[in-house]
Amino acid sequence: MGDLVLNKTYIEAVNDFNRLYGQKAINICPELYNITINAVYHNDSQHLSELNLNSNDAFAYYFYYEVPPKIAEIVINEEVLLRQRMENEDIQAAIAHEIGHIISIENHGDCYGGLAAEVLSDDYASKIGLRNQLISLLKKMKGCGEYCDFQLRWFEKRIGLLEKFPADDDIATIAKMALLLGEYKS
Ligand SMILES: [Zn+2]
Repeated sequence: MGDLVLNKTYIEAVNDFNRLYGQKAINICPELYNITINAVYHNDSQHLSELNLNSNDAFAYYFYYEVPPKIAEIVINEEVLLRQRMENEDIQAAIAHEIGHIISIENHGDCYGGLAAEVLSDDYASKIGLRNQLISLLKKMKGCGEYCDFQLRWFEKRIGLLEKFPADDDIATIAKMALLLGEYKS
C-alpha cells in the first residue's frame, strides 16, 4: 500500500503516522481507499479561503464530498504547531482526528456539526489506535492558554468522553452520541 496521507510537508510525524497507523486506518475505514488525502502547510492549501482557520488552530481539514474526485486536505499551520509545542505523537493524534472528520463526512455527509462532530472524529482516532495520544494532545491544548472558556469546555468534554469510554466499538460510539444528545436536551 502507498502512503495513506500524501505528505506535502517536511513534518516527519506525517510519515510516522503512515508507517504506524496507515494500514490500520484503512482496515477500519475501507472508504479511505477512494479518498486522496494530502497533508499541506496552510500557506500551500488550495482551499485556505474556504476554511475558517483560526489563529490558534494548528490543524484543519478540507473535504468536499459531493462531487468526485474525492480529494481531501489536512491543513497544518506550522507556526501554531511550534508555538503550542506539539510533538511527534501529538501531531499523529491530530492527523488521526482530522482523518476522522473526513471519514465522518464521507459516511454521514454534513449531518454532524459542533461538538458531536469533534467527538465522532475523536472516536475514529481512538479506533485507529491513538486514544492516549489524543487525550494527551487535548490536555496540552487545554493548558496552552490560547483558547477561550467555550473551547476549554469542549476540550474537557472530549477528554472526559475519551477517558470514560475506553472501548473502541460501535456501541461506545452510540453511547457517547446518546450522552451528548441527552445533554443538549436538558
Ligand atoms: Zn476536529
